[in-house]
Amino acid sequence: MTTKNEIYTLKTLAKRYARANRLPLHQALDQLAAHFEFPHWAALASKAKQGWLPSVERLASAEGLVQQSQPNVVGQEMFIEPRMSRPVHEPLRQGKIGDHEFSVFESFGDIHMEGDGWRILIGEAQFAQPVVEIEKTQGSSCPANDREFLDAALRIADEAAANVRAGISTDWPRRSTKPDAEGTVVHPLHGDRSAEWFCLHCDGKITGAQLAENLWHCPACGASPIDIFAVPFWLEGSDVKPEPVQVFTDRQRPDPRIEVVDSRPTLKLDGDSISLLLRTALLEGATTPGERLGALLAEISVDDDNDAWITLDEDLWPELKEPEEAMAVAELLGVELELAVTCMTFPFAWPGLGHVTTSTREYVQMLFDAYGEHGVVHRGGEGG
Ligand SMILES: [Zn+2]
Repeated sequence: MTTKNEIYTLKTLAKRYARANRLPLHQALDQLAAHFEFPHWAALASKAKQGWLPSVERLASAEGLVQQSQPNVVGQEMFIEPRMSRPVHEPLRQGKIGDHEFSVFESFGDIHMEGDGWRILIGEAQFAQPVVEIEKTQGSSCPANDREFLDAALRIADEAAANVRAGISTDWPRRSTKPDAEGTVVHPLHGDRSAEWFCLHCDGKITGAQLAENLWHCPACGASPIDIFAVPFWLEGSDVKPEPVQVFTDRQRPDPRIEVVDSRPTLKLDGDSISLLLRTALLEGATTPGERLGALLAEISVDDDNDAWITLDEDLWPELKEPEEAMAVAELLGVELELAVTCMTFPFAWPGLGHVTTSTREYVQMLFDAYGEHGVVHRGGEGG
């Protein structure tokens, strides 16, 4: 490697570092120079002209520094979206805090860190409030109840979030995260240019600098970049005047919100599920096509006390036939069941035909024959 090449490598690294950390290039160059123990880039460059070369180890550690702030960069410019190069369910990182194992995942820019009985979710937007979920069943034995453990976990999740954000901003045009002198920024998704933007969600007016800072999420409501527009077209003809969004002066990530959750599958015995189970039981007890129609068309209502009524058509469900399976299921569910009878809800003529056979195929053939002889058969699309 010639001197020229070494310096070229350093400049390329500095560019990536600048993009990932949204720094002006000269600052990135200076920081990289500091890594080689020079006061600033100019000092490094003039030494390089005199023949100074970074050692292989130092160059490798500089690459490491840049990669840390920008995962997935493997020493060359990448033209595919870095996030696409990793399978979605493969963890970014796995490890242990004390005796407790954890895995860190990324999903569409959000960070999801989890261990046994706890998880931490951090949204893509800068300064997004982390949500800590603690499994209810774990109770006080869950390590996330321990503040020290939680702080250690949050440090890891924050770092992962920062890396992912750096990856996102590296994908974007430089002008998306670095306003020009007029404050103009380029929308990272569709490329519009403006110094003034509007949020489709909260109608807030946002400056280009605010968007660059907040990775194109609305600083007021957190809406994602697809909801940010240069023109508030949706307000055309309305009285709403977009107001500048509130700017928070303390640029600190808020403390996490801690939620106790129960993520076990829960059998909800509400009206809908009770009537679904009762109808399933009715169908089980139905032998003829007529009875099956009766079960499908039965009116089933469940009141607030979970007591149920089943109204069966007398022509479809024989009056003397007890819906035994439905009654047994009702008892199992602790539901008081009342039966009622109605008439004239059958959907086809000659309801008696529905009880002649147990085969739906035979029943349909009988319907064709009967309608053919005594009536008319219309197929969909034939009109009338
Ligand atoms: Zn908004």
